[in-house]
Amino acid sequence: MSNNGGMNQVFALVDCNNFYASCEKLFRPDLRETPVVVLSNNDGCVVARSKEAKALGIKMGVPIHLIKTEIQRHRIKVFSSNYTLYGDMSRRVMTNLEALAPRVDVYSIDEAFLDLTGINQVMSFEAFGRQVKDAVYQNSHLSHFNFVTFGWVAA
Ligand SMILES: [Mg+2]
Repeated sequence: MSNNGGMNQVFALVDCNNFYASCEKLFRPDLRETPVVVLSNNDGCVVARSKEAKALGIKMGVPIHLIKTEIQRHRIKVFSSNYTLYGDMSRRVMTNLEALAPRVDVYSIDEAFLDLTGINQVMSFEAFGRQVKDAVYQNSHLSHFNFVTFGWVAA
């Protein structure tokens, strides 16, 4: 069992929403309100959707040729994937998290677990979450961001 003096263990899951689409939008402020989709490597399928594209009912994984009509009708902006950009944005976010949290486990390109055990002796988890969101926004301008804490009682 953990050697933390019987403190409850608390973790946060940080998850950037619509990550690839959000990265594309960062560099195209003119597309702020525009539905955006990002395609897989071979431009075959939708692998990311902005919230506007989700609201139009565009499904994850759908082959692009099946939604040609919707793309035209709703002026959906379509991007080929740019993994160099997403990797760079991911590193910025993760570097930020590592600067703030005692321990970070990067789980995927846009998700990480933070070990926040004991943080609440200094500040509330809500305040810490706000601090994380502010720092990530300042350093990466990504604002669509989930910060969910969960924990369990040490045995
Ligand atoms: Mg995500």
